[in-house]
Amino acid sequence: MSIPPPNDPPPVTPFCARCGAPNETGLTQCAHCGQSLLAAWPPPPGGYAPPQAYPPQTGTSSFGGLIPDKNPSALTAYYLGIFSIIPCVGLPMGIAALILGLRGLDLVKEHPEVRGRTHALVGIIVGGLFGLINLIGFLIVVASMVNPHPH
Ligand SMILES: [Zn+2]
Repeated sequence: MSIPPPNDPPPVTPFCARCGAPNETGLTQCAHCGQSLLAAWPPPPGGYAPPQAYPPQTGTSSFGGLIPDKNPSALTAYYLGIFSIIPCVGLPMGIAALILGLRGLDLVKEHPEVRGRTHALVGIIVGGLFGLINLIGFLIVVASMVNPHPH
């Protein structure tokens, strides 16, 4: 996948097509007579966009808001919470999901635009719940090993 060319306009001074006055790059209209500078520029063959029409930033939010890609703590907590259902490994994963979920939730509180609140909550609730279940199971196993025949 090739890297698209930078958004910088071609290094030309946009002279006004009507009055010939030089204008600063980035202006859409002549500062002297108001003539549109866009029409004066022929479309370059390389496909450069006009400088005032920067393409919208894509890539970071291409998931449509479903994946909190700016909140890795919440996302990790979500997956750890799910994996904490697995016995034995569920205890450390549940604890990690709880911690990361709380951290992700704090991040959402400070920066709501990062999203991930649902993912963080799932991580906290599921990770906490199954972490607790695994902890109880772990303690029962340890207790039976330490004191297998209580008399
Ligand atoms: Zn002009």
